[in-house]
Amino acid sequence: MGFSPLVDELIQNLQFLPGVGPKSAQRLAFNMLQRNRAAAQKLATSIALAVEQVGKCTRCQILSELKICDICNNPQRHKQLLCVVETAADVLAIEQTASYRGLYYVLGGHLSPIDGIGPKELGLEQFTQYVQAQAFTEVILATGTTVEGETTAYYLANLLNKSQISSSRIAHGAPLGGELEYLDAGTLTKAISLRAKLEVSS
Ligand SMILES: [Zn+2]
Repeated sequence: MGFSPLVDELIQNLQFLPGVGPKSAQRLAFNMLQRNRAAAQKLATSIALAVEQVGKCTRCQILSELKICDICNNPQRHKQLLCVVETAADVLAIEQTASYRGLYYVLGGHLSPIDGIGPKELGLEQFTQYVQAQAFTEVILATGTTVEGETTAYYLANLLNKSQISSSRIAHGAPLGGELEYLDAGTLTKAISLRAKLEVSS
């Protein structure tokens, strides 16, 4: 563009955000500068503070500015139950269901040999040390249902088995409130093979 190096730089930097291309970046920059400078200032401060102060919980690896996060520190949580997920966003999704009261471990990704992410890169040594030290009675493997997520779950199940810790995999199947005819073949196959007995009163 050329009328303001600072605006150009802002537009350039906004494109680091996932899904933001040149056009959206331009729209965002103009919106901030022309319509809402106070909010833009607040956003800038918030980003700077978070980048400077947010690290990882030393136990579950979730993003936190505390050494031990609020979930790990909560005496109300079941300390013998662990749920392994790929990202902090997965923790939020499970927390919103309010159906799980155990602890978490955030892997920060999944095994992906093509991208050069093996057990070492994923920090599985640290994970093994953590689960061995905490004496969990059950570990729920809630990695994604992609090929990489499934591979990671199997790898972890083997790892836990060697440490004599029992693990389980989240169930896959037909979504609630859905029509079967719209399901993909893979989901429907899983739903049938992982069928559960209906409890009926006699
Ligand atoms: Zn934690």
